[in-house]
Amino acid sequence: MQDTFRHQGLRKRLVQELRGLGIKEEKVLLAIEKIPRHFFIQTTFEDDAYDNKPFPIGRGQTISNPYTVAYQTELLELNDGEKVLEIGTGSGYQSAVLAELNVNVYTIERHQPLSNKAKRLLDNFGYTNVKTFYGDGFKGLPDEAPFDKILITAAAPEIPKDLLRQLKVNGMMVIPFGEGDTQEMIRIKRLDNNEFEKETFSTFTFVPMLKGVED
Ligand code: SAH
Repeated sequence: MQDTFRHQGLRKRLVQELRGLGIKEEKVLLAIEKIPRHFFIQTTFEDDAYDNKPFPIGRGQTISNPYTVAYQTELLELNDGEKVLEIGTGSGYQSAVLAELNVNVYTIERHQPLSNKAKRLLDNFGYTNVKTFYGDGFKGLPDEAPFDKILITAAAPEIPKDLLRQLKVNGMMVIPFGEGDTQEMIRIKRLDNNEFEKETFSTFTFVPMLKGVED
């Protein structure tokens, strides 16, 4: 696969579109301008890779649309060097966006083939600040905790208690919350050991967050 001038031009146009939709953080827009999203989707959809749309990535899963990726990333308010846990590696595209923002990414996927494929791709891009894990994101990564930020990229039917425990004090978790066709974007801040604050943002559509793993 190649990253041609045409692809690069389409990415510039996509970034303009995202600005129009209200994405402001320059480092997020720069990451989207840099990363060849067409590498992360099936070749059938290569020509449409820079449309603001989700695409199938196998196993009934999808890569989120770029606006959703940018929106969630902005909500995380990332600082250099932070430790970030992502639930739902999927294609690895969101992990790459996080990696471009100079944080240390730990990403979990419950479908083994998707996890393997994303790992290969992210390794090929040379992202040494991304670690991929095959497992159930509801459990998080107790051995690597605590995290500054946690990002869930699938529709959560509940707020995973184990993940709240793995958040640093002053850390934040971004979750698309709710079952059914649409989810509310929620951000939870850990104020103290047992004190959390919840904010609610716009409505989005995600594939469901499911328990257990599939090989
Ligand atoms: N961040 C991804 C979005 C993929 S869609 C990307 O940029 O492409 C959401 C992903 O979450 C799917 O791949 C799905 O298999 C995964 N997922 C759902 N429930 C999960 C869980 N409990 N643990 C880990 N991954 C999960």
